[in-house]
This record gives sequence, C-alpha cells and structure tokens, in this order.
Amino acid sequence: MNPAKPKTHSTPHRPSQGGKDFRKRVQRGKQQDEARAPQPTSKPRAGNAAANPGILLKAGREKSLQRRHPWVFSGAVECIDGTPASGDTVAVRDAAGNFLAWAAYNPDSQITARVWSWREQEIIDAAFFRRRISAALHARRALGLERDSNGMRLLHGESDGLPGLIVDRYDDVLVMQLGSAGMEHWRDTLADILQESCAPVCIYERSDSDGRALEGLPKHCGVLRGALPEAVEVMENGLRFAVDVAAGQKTGFYLDQRDNRALTGTLAAGREVLNCFCYTGGFSLYALRGGAASVLSIDSSQEALEIARCNVELNGLDSSKAEWQSADVFEALRKLRDQNRKFDLIVLDPPKFAPTAAFAEKAARAYKDINLLGFKLLRPGGLLFTYSCSGGISDDLFQKIIAGAALDAGVDAQIVKKLHAAADHPVLLSFPEGAYLKGLVLRVTD
Ligand code: SAH
Repeated sequence: MNPAKPKTHSTPHRPSQGGKDFRKRVQRGKQQDEARAPQPTSKPRAGNAAANPGILLKAGREKSLQRRHPWVFSGAVECIDGTPASGDTVAVRDAAGNFLAWAAYNPDSQITARVWSWREQEIIDAAFFRRRISAALHARRALGLERDSNGMRLLHGESDGLPGLIVDRYDDVLVMQLGSAGMEHWRDTLADILQESCAPVCIYERSDSDGRALEGLPKHCGVLRGALPEAVEVMENGLRFAVDVAAGQKTGFYLDQRDNRALTGTLAAGREVLNCFCYTGGFSLYALRGGAASVLSIDSSQEALEIARCNVELNGLDSSKAEWQSADVFEALRKLRDQNRKFDLIVLDPPKFAPTAAFAEKAARAYKDINLLGFKLLRPGGLLFTYSCSGGISDDLFQKIIAGAALDAGVDAQIVKKLHAAADHPVLLSFPEGAYLKGLVLRVTD
C-alpha cells in the first residue's frame, strides 16, 4: 500500500461575499483581455470570492441551471472573468451578475463548467468532497446490496453530486474513472478520501473512456493507491466473476446490469438461450445457473470470451451447456437466421451506439437491425431482453425502434417489463442524462 504518495493540495476557493460589482469586473476583464496584458496567476484565490474567476452567462441562459441541471454549455457563456485554468473552481452568474453555482471550469469542452454546488456559501475543498463521498457511501450501504454480492458502483458522477467521477468496487479493489477537468484537479484528494473511507487494497484509475477526448483530457490509467492483486474477482448474487481491472472494458465489469441479469436467471429454466454481446458471460452464467437447456453466447472480444469460459469453471456450472462464439453480432444473427435456428430467450446488450443525441439516427438503424433479427430468431412465446445504454436514445425512442423492429419482423410482442440500471446507479431527477440504461423484456405472442 502506498498511502504516502505526495499530495497536491488545491487551493480551495472561498464563497462569494456579494459579487455585486461582478458586471463591472466582467467589463474590466474584457478590456484586459483586449489589451492582452500578462495575466496574474490563474489559481482561485482564497478570501474574498468576488476575486475568484467566474463565468457570466448570456441573458436567458440561466434557466437550465435554475432547474438544477449541472452543466454549463459553451453556447450559454457570455464571457469569462479572470483567467481560470482547466479544472479550477469558478462562480457561475446570470447576466445580471446573480450567483447561480460553483462549478469546475473546462475551456476545452463543450461543457464549459460542471456544477459542484448551488450554495453560494459552499467552499469547494477536501472537506466538501469528503461530505459528498460520505453521503453517497451511506446511501449505498442503505441499499443493502451486500448480501451475496461484493461489487457495487459507489460513486455515480453527476447523480451523486460528483460530476465526472465514477468509482466501482470489486470486493476490496476500487476502480476510479475521471471524466471531467474538475475531477482531474482533485484526483489526489479523491484518492485520499476513498482510501480513508473504504480502506481498499488498491485504488486503480481507469480514466480511458472515449468521453475524455471530448473534454480535452489525455488517458490516464494505473495504480493510485496500494497494489493491484494479480486476480480480481467480484461476487454478484452468489456468482463469481473474474474482473480485468487494468484491461477490461469500462472499469472491468458492467455492474449496472446486476438486477437485469438476475431476472434473466429466474426466467431461463428449460430454455434455449442466445446471449448477444455477452462480454465476460454475465447473462450467460445467470441463465446456466437458472437451468437453461443451452446458452449460446456471442461477443467480438476474444479476451472477454476467455474470461467468460473461466467464469463458468469458477462457478462449477455445466460447461457442456455453454457455447461461445467469437463473432460480430450483426453477422452472427444473420447466419443464425439463415440456418433457421430458434431460441426461447434472447439477450441483446450491445455497446453504446449513440453516445449523444447527434448519433441517434445511425444508432437507431443498428438497434432496429439487431432487434428485428432477434425477433425472427424467437419461438412463439419466447422472451427478448433488449437494452440500450446510449445516452442519446431516450426511453420513448427506444420503445419506438423496438416496435418498428417487431413490425418488420412480422411478430406481435408484449412488453412484460421495463428495465433500468441497478439501484447503485441512481439518477438525479434534474439530470435525465443519468438514465442512460434502458431495457425491455418482450414476449413474442403465440
Ligand atoms: N452483457 C454484458 C455487457 C455487454 S458490453 C454483461 O452483462 O456483462 C458490450 C459488449 O459488446 C462488449 O463485450 C463488446 O466486446 C461487445 N461488442 C461490441 N461490438 C460488438 C459487435 N459488433 N459484435 C459482437 N460483440 C460486440
């Protein structure tokens, strides 16, 4: 363990003591900008917060913040007061100079600032992060998820008041993913707090998500505290899964599907199951344990399939009932259709086709394609578990796409259940983007 890593303490900003002269200061700031005189230090200064850098919004662009949506888009910004560095805390004010929020600044992102706090008297310092983290951990404990499970999303970004911070726990290893300049700024403080409050054997950073490029942040991975055990394992509802923390997808495992996997397990008895985009075998293992007659699992990642096979052994499940196929699902489904194969239960859990709404149209075609084929491969009375983890596809749109797929496949289907991410992935009401995972259980009528 290496808790003695040198710490970089960020200067906390202080709350505003008025800021009535903000507009004047903004004007002054503009003139200075024009003169391009060498600027003083960009660090937020302690003391009088009127001296802190700030963001002034265009008239009328304060509405989403007033509804407590925690992002300030670049198009809403009238001007920047001072010369904050990326990750610095800034005060966000409306066009009249009224305080709206404290936020983390990022000049390299379309999201110019992400809100830390709506309270003007708040001080954004280590104690602030300790409070927020402690509240999130307390809420997780209250969920009572620990029976037969030791994996959990401990911190879920914006929805836990911690924009850009994801922390997943796999037994006694924590994996941290930073997705914002603000969180980068506080990396060491966050690691210290997590070490203190969770005492893990390792905190591993996996800041290599695609979203970081949009934030102008380079990839950053490696051990932050402690040492990474040779093998990491997570227990989920009594099933054991090996987790490749350093090289697996996301933080190594998809904890958000915990409850949905369990539901599949309860409905799999005696059924021929097809699990598409199986990763390390999550849905497949539940189906095998639930008494499936057979489980065909498909993924394009050889590494994931190898772990999946080991996971079957790890749990003493009947590997003769499990078939693993390394293939592109789009092609594999067509082959199965051409072979006239039929299944009783199909899972479609593809990767994010539409990270943002801009990709929705292209993504919609991909979702329709796989779901149409899925419907065609189901026997009458069969169940389709279909998911989208695309932030750019709403619940409504997803349901419409699936309805179109059923129509084109020539089947009638009922929604048996609507599914979402597990309770350790809460969604802040004012931040609907947090509800990225949506799923439907459909039954093809006889
Ligand atoms: N259901 C899984 C998580 C799926 S994540 C679980 O419960 O753990 C999405 C998976 O899709 C990844 O494993 C990725 O390797 C795989 N994938 C992405 N594109 C693919 C494609 N075109 N064909 C097959 N697999 C693909």
